[in-house]
Amino acid sequence: MNEMILLKLGELVLKGLNRRSFEDKLQANIHRRLNNLGQFRVYTRQSTTYVEPMREDCDMDGAWEAMKKVFGVVGLSRARACEKDKDAILQACREYLDERLKSARTFKVETKRADKTFPMTSIQLSQYVGGELHELYPNLQVDVHHPELTVYVEIRDYAAFVHANPDPGAGGLPVGINGRAVALLSGGIDSPVASWMIAKRGVALEMVHFFSYPYTSPEAKDKVIELARLLTPYTGRLTVHVVPFTAIQEELRRSCPEELFTIIMRRFMMRISEAVARRCGAKALVTGECLGQVASQTMEAMAVTGAVVEMPILRPCVGLDKEEIVQIARKIGTFETSILPYEDCCTVFTPRHPRLRPLPGEVEAAESKLDIEGMVRAAVEGIERIHV
Ligand code: ATP
Ligand code: MG
Repeated sequence: MNEMILLKLGELVLKGLNRRSFEDKLQANIHRRLNNLGQFRVYTRQSTTYVEPMREDCDMDGAWEAMKKVFGVVGLSRARACEKDKDAILQACREYLDERLKSARTFKVETKRADKTFPMTSIQLSQYVGGELHELYPNLQVDVHHPELTVYVEIRDYAAFVHANPDPGAGGLPVGINGRAVALLSGGIDSPVASWMIAKRGVALEMVHFFSYPYTSPEAKDKVIELARLLTPYTGRLTVHVVPFTAIQEELRRSCPEELFTIIMRRFMMRISEAVARRCGAKALVTGECLGQVASQTMEAMAVTGAVVEMPILRPCVGLDKEEIVQIARKIGTFETSILPYEDCCTVFTPRHPRLRPLPGEVEAAESKLDIEGMVRAAVEGIERIHV
């Protein structure tokens, strides 16, 4: 074993969340993400989690990519192990950090000594390694206050390690530490981003997708499953509850005023999602709604759709511009799939003149002839669960 990954943990000082449960949850999540990549030892000391390969065949590049997507990690570095000897350490710096040593203008060396039997003090070792590197790389100036590059040397019980400035981690809180929510996943750009944002805050997710076969195609459903799959490196395993929505939409088209069709349809989405949430122990719903983006996303419309459920509806995209949402979608890798041209159930039977500011009474009157409970029950009973 000559390499390992160091993870810096974020936001430990949260009210109501103690360090222990944060670390335990994070460690369990890390183990799960490393499952297919080989046998690793994972342990935490002083706000750093160490991911150590146990065998030669561990996929270190795979582990590195996987660890970049673990919420709760603010920074990560790859470290090279070497013999506990000052010249072996210097050599490891030259081999392992050569690129970075060549491109930086200022640097310093920082040593941590866990093994107190090592014959030099931390300061002596830093001075030795720093002095030698200074000679070897003429581009480097020492700057102990704001160096571009910090070379870290750690003397541990069984080996020494060298590493450099950490790369940024995914941030946020370990998934699962803040309970569970149900995310409404369409095939669009916004809802995968909204799901990701809520997962980032430590929430485990279940996905709900409303499927209007044959008005929307099996490819449209596959696209949503693919979006869920793209989120799993961040969220962990997901269940997509595919709700048969055609019967409800046809009933609403038959019996509701056209201009209220969308809003009433969205009320059914909320009721069904809440029913799913109750069954899986979720405490909130998540949507990709954004203020003023479309007719059903005015404050009045949100009030009317939200009125049929008791759970909070989390709308993390509410204050973002489209461009900002697109930027996140690109970063997390869902954008290209989201823009594939398949229809969504919301575009089936779209009213020509949707009501922008529905009045609560008028929507309830339009719904009064419907067997709401029966319609919701039938939809929930018809759910197909897909695990990704
Ligand atoms: P998105 O880009 O996420 O599709 P949008 O801008 O197209 O959002 P709407 O179509 O009005 O907006 O949908 C608003 C939100 O309602 C979506 O972000 C999603 O959370 C939910 N939603 C819409 N259609 C579906 C669907 N077929 N299945 C599950 N949720 C849906
Ligand atoms: Mg949409």
